[in-house]
Amino acid sequence: MEAIAGKVIIITGASSGIGASTALYLSSKKAIVVLAARREELLEKLAQACVGKTLVVPTDVTKYSDVKNLVNTTLSQFGKIDVLINNAGLMAISPLNLSKVDEWEKMIDINIKGPLYGIAEVLPIFERQKSGHFINISSVAGVKVFSPGGTVYSGTKFALRAISEGLRSEVDKNIRTTTICPGVIDSELKFGSSDPTSLQSIIDFYKQAIPPDSIARAIAYAIEQPADVDINEIILRPTQQE
Ligand code: NDP
Repeated sequence: MEAIAGKVIIITGASSGIGASTALYLSSKKAIVVLAARREELLEKLAQACVGKTLVVPTDVTKYSDVKNLVNTTLSQFGKIDVLINNAGLMAISPLNLSKVDEWEKMIDINIKGPLYGIAEVLPIFERQKSGHFINISSVAGVKVFSPGGTVYSGTKFALRAISEGLRSEVDKNIRTTTICPGVIDSELKFGSSDPTSLQSIIDFYKQAIPPDSIARAIAYAIEQPADVDINEIILRPTQQE
């Protein structure tokens, strides 16, 4: 098995849910975790709860300059990047006929452009290092469309799976790419909808949710495989979920 200890791992969306849980789990295995999101005070608290080395870099993944700063700061602090976990995300559920164009744009910016900015900055570093691992957090909603209401969110998560698969086939064979597709996980994600009807149905749907450490363990499993093993995709959902 490949050691997680000592790996420099950037996690976007680390201030809550899956990202925070993953940071704690990887840190308990002695990884150096770089915590990125917009809510700096939550990141600072999380850094204190981590056991090993950490770095907090307040980041809005919709701003390319922020993502550049995240990557440059990590590199200048630790001299390498081993894993980029593109985890930041927004789920703003609503039926298409409500025309919530602003929310569609936000989801496209956070869920698609955010990971692309990360890939743009980190890929040249992975190529120079001749090693590295992209982990992109898609969704079961990236495998099937939840409707009504989930169309645009699913569109972003299908897109991220497509980007992951294209990335995997394009890059040097010593660079790994993993897509993780979680089912319903207990986090703040369920509160992303501004449409009261959709919000209520999502909150009801999330009664079957499982804790975010289930995803943290799946991420760790992908990282700790031998360097010549690339876990391409993990789909993971509660036993209760259809
Ligand atoms: P949370 O809402 O708890 O976490 C979302 C994270 O994304 C937060 O840390 C938030 O931090 C960050 N974020 C949002 N917008 C931005 C931004 N513009 N720039 C930087 N960070 C941002 O949800 P989860 O932990 O559940 O979600 C994590 C990922 O998992 C998402 O991609 C989600 O789509 C995916 N997923 C989740 C599932 C679930 O059921 N929970 C199921 C399938 C996939 P901040 O606000 O501080 O910036």
